[in-house]
Amino acid sequence: MTRIFSGVKPTGHLTLGNYLGAVRQWAEVDQYRAESLFSVVDLHALTVDHDPGRVRRLSRQAATLLLASGIDPERAVVFVQSHVDEHARLSYLLECVATDGEMRRMIQYKEKSVLERARGGSVRLSLLTYPVLMAADILAYGADEVPVGDDQTQHVELTRDLAERFNQRYGQTFVVPRATPPKVAARVMDLQDPASKMGKSHESGAGIVYLLDEPEAVRKKVLRAVTDSGSEVRYDREAQPGISNLLEILAACEGGDPEAVSGGYASYGALKKDTADAVVELLRPVRERHKELVADPAYVEEVLRRGAERAREMARPTVDGAYRAIGL
Ligand code: ADP
Repeated sequence: MTRIFSGVKPTGHLTLGNYLGAVRQWAEVDQYRAESLFSVVDLHALTVDHDPGRVRRLSRQAATLLLASGIDPERAVVFVQSHVDEHARLSYLLECVATDGEMRRMIQYKEKSVLERARGGSVRLSLLTYPVLMAADILAYGADEVPVGDDQTQHVELTRDLAERFNQRYGQTFVVPRATPPKVAARVMDLQDPASKMGKSHESGAGIVYLLDEPEAVRKKVLRAVTDSGSEVRYDREAQPGISNLLEILAACEGGDPEAVSGGYASYGALKKDTADAVVELLRPVRERHKELVADPAYVEEVLRRGAERAREMARPTVDGAYRAIGL
């Protein structure tokens, strides 16, 4: 049976980008067709300046949101990465297979290290090695598929390279996985800045829709989205990035195709209104279920405890095998 691994970082509140690019697909499709593991990858939240209490709170919130999105812990394994030692154990071995040049070529590293330096901070070594830990997350479970948004496909390519290199040098140990981004909304852009992706750790929230935003806030953000000069509603990500982003969001909400959706609109105003309504409706059940789950923290704790136990059992044979293969 196909096996799937994916995760979300507790570096901020989950966004519409996380939901459309990843979480919704996990909840609606992946958990029904494959043996799935979904993790709150908290070790990755330590790669930039962080507040310990905040990471802990966000981690619990992210796990609760995965469940609120419809991921069923009876079907999929839901857990927190740091509860399972195998990730860090395997990451070190993969650091002995990866090269520093490879790490420095990663687009996310380039972008984030520039940001960190511009803020006057220093760059943590873990920001450079982050993709190796991500490779360990995936390879430890022998995942065949990794459903992620576009921004993560380069890291999955690296994971493939590391798996192949390890297998070649030390004998068949890892499954070589592939990224499976969604067809629509694999890269949702910031509503105020359609040149950058809607990311949860960005500082301004004006262009970012959070899953737990009140409906009125969602509506306001979508209605105030920057649009392009001109008035034609056309799907063209190069020439009309603002409008195309709204079309992608609306199409993803409705399960359609952005090009086809564009045909139904003569004005920006009507498109924004329908998009706002569609996003509010899409998020409504998630917010409602989240409210219920927050009232029952012991349930979420228990899900995570069982999830970690199961994840450990699944990862250990592969990671032990890798230790033996490499000569330890
Ligand atoms: P973030 O960049 O918000 O910190 P994570 O690294 O936690 O996101 O990613 C969780 C999942 O959400 C990943 O599969 C990632 O590709 C996806 N994702 C993140 N932002 C977006 C976006 N703007 N559009 C589509 N998918 C996204």
